[in-house]
Amino acid sequence: MPTFVDMTKCDGCGQCVDICPSDIMHIDKTTRRAYNIEPNFCWECFSCVKSCPQHAIDVRGYADFAPLGHKVRVHRDEEGGKVHWLIGYRDGREKEFTFPIRTTPWGSIPAAQEHQAPGPNDIKSPQLAHEPTALKIDSLPTLEEAQNRG
Ligand code: SF4
Ligand code: SF4
Repeated sequence: MPTFVDMTKCDGCGQCVDICPSDIMHIDKTTRRAYNIEPNFCWECFSCVKSCPQHAIDVRGYADFAPLGHKVRVHRDEEGGKVHWLIGYRDGREKEFTFPIRTTPWGSIPAAQEHQAPGPNDIKSPQLAHEPTALKIDSLPTLEEAQNRG
């Protein structure tokens, strides 16, 4: 099941819109609440579910962590650096799992427009955007260096 927004909980903050890698979470102009404009394109990646401060988004969990018929609630504890998963099984049992947040701190990744714009010759470079800075190294290893190391 792709994402489903409980409109009675959503306050229209737009965090799900900002984070969705498929660009399918939009704010309805009339209701000012979020909704999934193209459910077929939902990756069920949970990014919006984890980012929603109101816990307003529902999505199916994968069968590798909960069988069919379950409910998933995800709570992101930014200050504690943890993500809590509450799985409600169809027989009524509930299990809670807590994991450390593995990503960089919320809001710490610069937006694309904050990086220097590429020049006309950058297309000839083998480096990807923001390399080598994003890899936290001074320069990428070269073929010659690898051959010299034997
Ligand atoms: Fe977008 Fe992922 Fe949320 Fe689907 S689960 S709406 S792909 S952020
Ligand atoms: Fe609504 Fe949650 Fe999306 Fe904010 S992040 S717009 S509260 S569904």
